[in-house]
Amino acid sequence: MRVPAYAAPAAGQPLAPTTIERRDVGPNDVLIEIEYAGICHSDIHTVNGDWGPQPFPVVPGHEIVGVVTAVGPHVAGHRVGDRVGVGCMVDSCGECTNCRNGDEQYCLQGMVATYAGTDRDGTTTQGGYSTHVVVDAGYVLSVPESLDPAAAAPLLCAGITTYSPLRRWGAGPGTQVAVVGLGGLGHLAVRLAAAMGAEVTVLSQSLKKQEDGLRLGAAHYHATSDPDTFAQLAGRFDLIVNTVSAPIDVDAHLSLLGVDGALVNVGAPAAPLSLHVMSLIGGRRTYAGSMIGGIAETQEMLDFCAEHGIGAEVEVISADRVNDAYERVLASDVRYRFVIDAATLR
Ligand code: NAP
Ligand code: ZN
Repeated sequence: MRVPAYAAPAAGQPLAPTTIERRDVGPNDVLIEIEYAGICHSDIHTVNGDWGPQPFPVVPGHEIVGVVTAVGPHVAGHRVGDRVGVGCMVDSCGECTNCRNGDEQYCLQGMVATYAGTDRDGTTTQGGYSTHVVVDAGYVLSVPESLDPAAAAPLLCAGITTYSPLRRWGAGPGTQVAVVGLGGLGHLAVRLAAAMGAEVTVLSQSLKKQEDGLRLGAAHYHATSDPDTFAQLAGRFDLIVNTVSAPIDVDAHLSLLGVDGALVNVGAPAAPLSLHVMSLIGGRRTYAGSMIGGIAETQEMLDFCAEHGIGAEVEVISADRVNDAYERVLASDVRYRFVIDAATLR
């Protein structure tokens, strides 16, 4: 099946309309008519080649929501007409320790990424800036009916990427959580951490978005460009989730943690980050990373969002505006996620 899509032809090149091939619906597959696809900063890192060589052309998009239009004969969990989602992975071995533990994203054979990944049949996967996608049912999530589909799309990456470390490091009543960077991931981190009961602080480059941060559920908002911030908040936090797409001063941020506090990096800049180990030693602190979340945890996150009425704040755009949207994300001018209306591709 040939379907319309938007692809980057080569590293750093603007995206342009094209058509791509989707495989036939296999026995375990689901065919999804895509409604919305979020624009994640990872799409931009990928298109710009920030993370090293990879196949082109690439159709980005790993925050996919749509409706099931066909299922293979062995599919039990999804039916035609269901609203479903697909995130950053479309396959994994299913047999290694990590897959068996529900950490498919850390599959020892390597998870199959939704785009620019190598599928089991050797073909290169292509993502959600498209009208349709065929995905193994085991990697398809159920999107609760109460969630607005455009606002739900970013949950499939930005949502799970922040939900998972918040849960793992115990965000909840009585904990002080800071979110660094109020972009796509950051604004959902604020909503999720607040819904979990934590007292949330936003650390943003400036105070420009303070009103939004407080409305999203933060109790405090500080500018990292103000050196007073680091003096004033020293030793304050149990958990800091860093969502910044560029390098930050790791030592300065570690100094904001209390004893046993953790700074979890989900932001994935191209350049390496460095730290002085004394920043960890003097406070038994942890510096960690975290990548999306497993399939079961992603479903748990979607159900949590439905229960708490959480979606992304989105600016829905037509597909022909994707290159402008990339420019605006790079300029930190996103409030707070661009989402492509896939109907504009048809
Ligand atoms: P985004 O919407 O662009 O948000 C990033 C935010 O970081 C910006 O809004 C800005 O917030 C802040 N920022 C940007 N440049 C900065 C700079 N030079 N110095 C300080 N702060 C800066 O991006 P996103 O989609 O949320 O993604 C964020 C990062 O997470 C990306 O690197 C992405 O690849 C990565 N990511 C990782 C995973 C994972 O599994 N670990 C999953 C998805 C995305 P303020 O304006 O508030 O300062
Ligand atoms: Zn993403």
